[in-house]
Amino acid sequence: MKQEEDIYAELDQSFRDKVSTIDSEGKRVWVYPQKPKGRFHQYRAMVAIACLALLFGMPFIRMNGEPLMLFNVLERKFIIFGMLFGPQDFALLGLTMITFMVFIILFTVIYGRLFCGWTCPQTIFMEMVFRKIEYLIEGDANKQRALTKAPLSAEKILKKASKHIVFFIISFIIANTFLAYIISTDELFKLISEPITEHVGDLTSLLIFTGVFYWVFAFFREQVCTVVCPYGRLQGVLLDKNSIVVAYDYMRGEKRGKLHKGEERTIGDCIDCHQCVAVCPTGIDIRNGTQLECVNCTACIDACDHIMDKVGLPRGLITYASEKGIAERTKLRLTPRIIGYSAVLVLLLGILSFALISRNDTETTILRTPGMMFQENPDGSISNLYNFKVNNKTHKDLSIYFKVKDVPAKIKIVGMDSIISKKEGAAQGSMFIYIDAKDLEKRSTKLKIEVYSDNRLLETVKTSFLGPVK
Ligand code: SF4
Ligand code: SF4
Repeated sequence: MKQEEDIYAELDQSFRDKVSTIDSEGKRVWVYPQKPKGRFHQYRAMVAIACLALLFGMPFIRMNGEPLMLFNVLERKFIIFGMLFGPQDFALLGLTMITFMVFIILFTVIYGRLFCGWTCPQTIFMEMVFRKIEYLIEGDANKQRALTKAPLSAEKILKKASKHIVFFIISFIIANTFLAYIISTDELFKLISEPITEHVGDLTSLLIFTGVFYWVFAFFREQVCTVVCPYGRLQGVLLDKNSIVVAYDYMRGEKRGKLHKGEERTIGDCIDCHQCVAVCPTGIDIRNGTQLECVNCTACIDACDHIMDKVGLPRGLITYASEKGIAERTKLRLTPRIIGYSAVLVLLLGILSFALISRNDTETTILRTPGMMFQENPDGSISNLYNFKVNNKTHKDLSIYFKVKDVPAKIKIVGMDSIISKKEGAAQGSMFIYIDAKDLEKRSTKLKIEVYSDNRLLETVKTSFLGPVK
């Protein structure tokens, strides 16, 4: 049986010396992919609708009166599933970043670019929104090509202008949604309803976002995936021979050759019809093997399956497979490696979810006031002075009180009757803790101080208490 190297050695290797979207003079080659259709496209369209509904709907969903998701970078205020996260949550942020990185690496090692093809916002907007509008207004690939080449006419101006106007309007809607995730829908509605002069900054951001989205989807297109996206460029180091990718089954397809009526076929199943190339939105030939430009959009799977149906050959000449699976002629199946890595992924997500859900409503620091020793009081008690700060991570004011755990003690707050930690804010002050001298066994006693609000224990903070040497 021929090996991969032998098969590829017989093929034209010139594709390795150039980028499919740049010609020999360094100019951009515009890609006119044929309209995709088929079962994978239908599944992807369903996933895209669900993703778009989530993306556009989420800013309007409220939880406890606050947005479900908010990423206000300017004010360093983040809300995830109604929970407020601020700069004090840097430990959680660190955990999230590490989980995210490990998740990306493990996920890609097993499932390749599944994310790019099915749920990446760039692919969804480009292939399922903007490209569909283009097909609707300008027609399929050949008509688009002909329209671009055609001399200026009323029809050309009308089609091109209407397409770009629709593109701009959709970009404006996307920019509004994007801004809603940053400043919230409440602020966005103010921006729309109040005089422009009061929101010059936000309006400028909105127009910049609109311009960027319009430029990306109208002109830059697949270059985002092939030139800019760091995830795409990482594929070379993340994928291995076991990763699941959209792949051409060269063992079955080669040696490729045209199909002639009535002739008994003695070569491979690929009839060299180029349909897989014609539908590719990044302009590549998947038969050359896994390439950085392939966003795993599945359009070539559908196109090839359609051809195979027409010529009476089995589907799956282009399919989801691993390089090893193709070389060894084994079908895609659950291997211990896939199960093991997937289990690690689920575990990582579980740990992160637990860390997020079990996060305290407050973050309290209680420290002995610097430079102060202990005081011996006439009633036989020893007192220490502390500074406290209670960060409130919730959306409501909290009335706070402290209790010393395990040791009989009294607490006296200095200069205030009660501690009110304002929503999304903090309360700070000083307090004395009194402990009877006979209850102290050594010079420094470890204390656990419980932080309560409405009879609910919020957290327990550790500090120390100084007393005389025994
Ligand atoms: S669509 Fe299938 S048969 Fe046609 S060229 Fe591509 S791989 Fe070969
Ligand atoms: S090679 Fe196939 S899966 Fe990859 S981008 Fe092109 S059409 Fe999509």
